[in-house]
Amino acid sequence: MVEVVEEIKCSNCGAPLQFEPGEIIVSCKYCGYTSTITTREAFTLEHSLLLNQYTNSQITDLMYKWMRVSFAKPSDLENKAKLTEANLKYLPFWSVPVEASSTYKGVFERTGLNIVKEGVIKKNYNWLVLGRRAATFPTREYEIPLEGKIPFDFTRIEKSAQVLNSEITELEAIEIARQEIEAHHKFLASQDVDKIIEIKTEFKVEDAVYIHAPIWFLAYNYKGEVYRIIIDGASGEVIKGEMPTIKFSLF
Ligand SMILES: [Zn+2]
Repeated sequence: MVEVVEEIKCSNCGAPLQFEPGEIIVSCKYCGYTSTITTREAFTLEHSLLLNQYTNSQITDLMYKWMRVSFAKPSDLENKAKLTEANLKYLPFWSVPVEASSTYKGVFERTGLNIVKEGVIKKNYNWLVLGRRAATFPTREYEIPLEGKIPFDFTRIEKSAQVLNSEITELEAIEIARQEIEAHHKFLASQDVDKIIEIKTEFKVEDAVYIHAPIWFLAYNYKGEVYRIIIDGASGEVIKGEMPTIKFSLF
């Protein structure tokens, strides 16, 4: 059975909008106008783009270079690894400027004495949240190079690249940022005291930036197993990479 989907037109130029189920912030491929699908309202926040700086073969070279300089690896990895996949995707991120201040009280037990201690953790963040629900991405390991951002522009995106739209609103992104920062501060407080009695975090949040960033998803085959690598297409940095574990033998 063919599902009938209401065609939604760009309210700026009238062209049909293309988007996947679940996506709610959508940019028009023809004029670049960005709007919220659910409310049909114009997207009023900053929408930025980071440009991809690498070709397919340059990204492959970066993968082999990463293998070469990695310390704990099988010695034949670079020679035996075969690239099986290299896909460029523009992922939607929310960068949320937050000033977060936590006051906590806890018990310091390490000395054998139970000392009640208080402390404050106050930090400024541009907290990064991926705008997709089901996908996992190592956001904390990704230093998004915000200094290179330009206003969003479809003409600067490769035709072969896949552009994913956000499935969450700015408010949801802020809520996720708050929860993650709260958990992060709890972790920081637990470095200072052994048992937290109470912790309270206050937030000052400014307008988020919606940004599309070029991310390369690579896969390689090594001795019949597939491993994955994620590379930042703007900086060339390996964000995360899987590597065969070396089997140490004792005898
Ligand atoms: Zn349009």
